[in-house]
Amino acid sequence: MEIVYYPHPALRWKSQPIRQINDEVRQVVREMFALMYEHKGIGLAANQVALPWQLFVLNLTGNPEEKDEEHVFINPEIIKRKGSEEGEEGCLSLPKLYGDVRRAAEIIVEAYDLDGQGFSMTLDELGARCVQHEFDHLQGTLFVDRMSETKRHEVESLLNDFALLFRRQQESGQVPGDAEIEAQLKKLEPK
Ligand code: ZN
Repeated sequence: MEIVYYPHPALRWKSQPIRQINDEVRQVVREMFALMYEHKGIGLAANQVALPWQLFVLNLTGNPEEKDEEHVFINPEIIKRKGSEEGEEGCLSLPKLYGDVRRAAEIIVEAYDLDGQGFSMTLDELGARCVQHEFDHLQGTLFVDRMSETKRHEVESLLNDFALLFRRQQESGQVPGDAEIEAQLKKLEPK
């Protein structure tokens, strides 16, 4: 498992609900947490490891020792959004790119945990921002899509650099072409 970078097609995929929480899902979650910590992240969505599943993991402390802070969100839905707040975001799929994004200040999210138990969480501040960011990933939306036009303009050249690098890797055969990646994603959708 590895993190994929913009503009990998998995980041534009609309992920599908997980039908069954089995050993495969549990193993994927373990690997996602490990990868997230390795890259010093606080959240990671399945799309970012090229899995078209509605799943993301979160530990707002970013500290692997703090197991109590680990949360798994399976088939999440944001059922309520309140207020609006601007704040800086970054993304493991867009290393070293940061920018301000306007998000709901307070949310209620419903999801299933790894035991298949439904839960509901009310979040604000960093938690609300992070869950909205990860939830967006599952819809194929990136935080740069939500930046204001002026802010987006400021990061345009960085985005172009990412795109150039990715296309070069495809041309050299290091990374498969878009069509092949998309066929693979289709195959990996939950059955
Ligand atoms: Zn992200």
